[in-house]
Amino acid sequence: MISVDKEKCIGCGACVSVCEDVFEMKDGKAVVKKGKEKTKLPCVKEAVETCPVEAIKV
Ligand code: SF4
Repeated sequence: MISVDKEKCIGCGACVSVCEDVFEMKDGKAVVKKGKEKTKLPCVKEAVETCPVEAIKV
């Protein structure tokens, strides 16, 4: 299950840049797109590593 910690996210958009199939911006924060919570796309790992505040959990 992929999730973004709203409290931690600073809205930098990096996760969307590397993995726009899974993440999108909503009200200045990143969210996981509907139905993509369980995807195995490799870019998710990239997004986790790219996030500067470690807000993405898998
Ligand atoms: S990379 Fe991290 S801090 Fe930046 S928008 Fe995505 S979840 Fe938020």
